[in-house]
Amino acid sequence: MKISVNSPCPCGSKKKYKQCCQRYHKGAQVKDALTLIKSRYSAYVVGDGRYIIKTTHQDNPEYHDDKQIWQKSIKYFSQETQFKSLKILKVQESENEVFVTFKAQFAEGNLHEKSRFVKENGFWLYREGEIKKT
Ligand SMILES: [Zn+2]
Repeated sequence: MKISVNSPCPCGSKKKYKQCCQRYHKGAQVKDALTLIKSRYSAYVVGDGRYIIKTTHQDNPEYHDDKQIWQKSIKYFSQETQFKSLKILKVQESENEVFVTFKAQFAEGNLHEKSRFVKENGFWLYREGEIKKT
């Protein structure tokens, strides 16, 4: 999807992309899991595979060792998907682990997922997700 720096950020913050998730895509460190899930969603929308890979835990079942192929598949997903919105439904926090339940809406349907994020060496990472039936 085509997003410019002055477009509203895909995460739904009502800020401009450049003042919101793009900062994280460019390397600023997210301070919490909620910011991570939003910036990962935005990265899928803009097709920033590097950010998705960087913020995915190595033990995630979808972790690919071949980062080039992985990056290409994220790009493809981004181009082929019509993203509509991200809704955060529930956040359960503890110190180094956070569960976030969300609904992502696409023209093609919804993804309802409970994601688990862990903090390792000061960095929040996407550990895995459990798809919920809607
Ligand atoms: Zn954002």
